Amino acid sequence: MNQVIESKRISSQNLIGSRFSDVLLSQALINQHDLHIAGAHAAHQHVSLVDAVVELGFVSELQSYGALATATGLRLIELSGLTPSNLALRLVPERVARKHDILPITEDNRNLTYAISRPFDADAERDVAFASGRSPHAVIARPSDLQLALDKHYEHLGDIDLLLARVRSETSVEMVDCGDAKIPTDSPVIDLCNQIIARAVGAGASDVHIEPTKQGLMVRYRLGGILEPALTVPVESANLVCNRYKVMARVDISVKQRPQDGAFRLSINGRPIDVRLSTLPTLNGEKLVMRVIDSRVESQGLDSLGYDADNLARLKRALDRPDGLVLVTGPTGSGKTTVLYSALHHLRTGHTNIISVEDPVERQIDGVNQIPVNSRAGNTFAAVLRSVLRQDPNVIMVGEVRDNEVAQIVGQAACTGHLVLTSLHTTDSASAIIRLVNLGLEPFKIAESLTAIVSQRLVRKLCPTCRNVHNDVDAKRLGRDHGVESVAASAGRGCDRCRHSGYVERIPVAEVLTPDDHIREAIGRGATVSEIRAAMHGAECRSMRERGLELVAEGITSIEEINRVLAAEPITASRQAGGKRVLVVDDDRITRMLVKLLLEKDGYVVLEGKNGHEALEIAHRERPDLLIVDLLMPEMDGYQAIETIRQDISLSTLPVMVLTAEDDPAIEERVLELGADDYLVKPFEPQVLLSRVRAAFRRIERAAVAV
Ligand SMILES: [Zn+2]
Repeated sequence: MNQVIESKRISSQNLIGSRFSDVLLSQALINQHDLHIAGAHAAHQHVSLVDAVVELGFVSELQSYGALATATGLRLIELSGLTPSNLALRLVPERVARKHDILPITEDNRNLTYAISRPFDADAERDVAFASGRSPHAVIARPSDLQLALDKHYEHLGDIDLLLARVRSETSVEMVDCGDAKIPTDSPVIDLCNQIIARAVGAGASDVHIEPTKQGLMVRYRLGGILEPALTVPVESANLVCNRYKVMARVDISVKQRPQDGAFRLSINGRPIDVRLSTLPTLNGEKLVMRVIDSRVESQGLDSLGYDADNLARLKRALDRPDGLVLVTGPTGSGKTTVLYSALHHLRTGHTNIISVEDPVERQIDGVNQIPVNSRAGNTFAAVLRSVLRQDPNVIMVGEVRDNEVAQIVGQAACTGHLVLTSLHTTDSASAIIRLVNLGLEPFKIAESLTAIVSQRLVRKLCPTCRNVHNDVDAKRLGRDHGVESVAASAGRGCDRCRHSGYVERIPVAEVLTPDDHIREAIGRGATVSEIRAAMHGAECRSMRERGLELVAEGITSIEEINRVLAAEPITASRQAGGKRVLVVDDDRITRMLVKLLLEKDGYVVLEGKNGHEALEIAHRERPDLLIVDLLMPEMDGYQAIETIRQDISLSTLPVMVLTAEDDPAIEERVLELGADDYLVKPFEPQVLLSRVRAAFRRIERAAVAV
């Protein structure tokens, strides 16, 4: 029986071989001599003649298989641009397909068409028929093409299925307001796309990042401010997933070379979820970022913000005024929106008209007239705001000041008896003011109307279950290493509660600055960022870093977390100092020596002077990076020196730290008014001096970056 089949096969293969030779010769693709060599090669190497002529380089693979198609009367198809039907792929399991090197292509009730490079292969036919329960119909494909297609379609199917098994949940996802959803909803890609969003919502992620890499599309969730890898979509499906999201968000799927924005809405377990999509072309392909907006998250009052009593009181004072401008600043993901919503929550008394103009409306609040902006529909911030002003508002919240027109309207409204709340995407308070000025808002209007600037970052809290709490000695020692007062705890190894990250939810580190006359004056005369920063430094307001270090000393967060969030700063002494030059001016030799020893040990270069005159002279000649100056000195005292330095255009930016035995608030106030940046009372502890000097340099460096 087997022998019969075997001999039948050989005869049919011989027949094909002979027809194939005829086609090659008739098309003048080969001559008799080469054909003869190829025949010998085929017999010797146990390959078909079709492959032998290719292996010997007589004809190309395409020509050879083209000739085979002609010889057999079967179609030759190209697989690269072809997508097999999902059902056909499922009907013929990967094992069968790989055993015979065939690719199922289409199917109907009765037939299954598959591609093969060896036509009339009885074993393959039988297995395909058996697996699919349909009549097999072969078409011809080149072996190299087949291999690629097999890898592509079976691997993709397997991985997507695996991925889906990992991410699939009981969550029900429905399209509410999405672009064309003509693709059948049972497609695994659509299922995967929905589950990716559902998982993000379930985990409380604020954003989903989808980035092309060589291994495929990397999907990451932003959880608690940190991007966490979730899964990788195989390269073959990368386009399908990107396109699906682009379709949902109604952006042009054919455009891949420029950034686009779009939005869609889903219902996840009955909860409406808005998603903002933005695309960006990168070297490896398009990167998608989706902001997930769960509008049903309840907004809460100011007390739930997690601010300390001081900051809270300042903010409430500003909000309880009938007019003025309250600015909230910070980078993306620093919680600006939460602050604005909490403020609105605080303000809704039922007796005022509160209008918010937002893009998009992220949370719904009762008692506030929320107006979504739709720039595409010509419904811009500026246009909406103009109408809003005709609606007799008491309080206006403007999502974000992004352009000149909006800045103008905001300034005008704040100066004409409205309380205006808005946010600016800047790193700190001083830069926010300069941004408003650069947007065309007159400095005097800002000076006049500004009642508070909130800057904040969110830091992760140490996991209370697994954090390492240090004893007092270690806490102090670690504090010294980091140039801070104390480090009460550090991140543990992680546990189930913190998903092995060592951290749990986030807490804000905020500074709420209420401008005093000094700051208003600086803003009003159009001062530079560093001048405004200097003016702010004099105001009684703890910086975000100071607030953060309090949390470190209380063991709520770690120093690493503070450094990560508030501009990562070098930690080791030598790097921190980096050969910076400090001029120490004191008539007391012992003090000079002590300061010099301390600073030199920390890597600073120290210059010395005995009085105000020498301070000025050395400062002009040597251009130090920082001046540490005593107050009571012969000839020219510290007050005069500081005053002169601040008036000298070439020295006006030199940071000055006063080091004095005078522990008197009035004196401190006076020197700060003169333009000193810091004030330290003698006798001082060595690490206090060091940490103050380090802090001064951090301020300088940050100022330089911001400018
Ligand atoms: Zn833990």
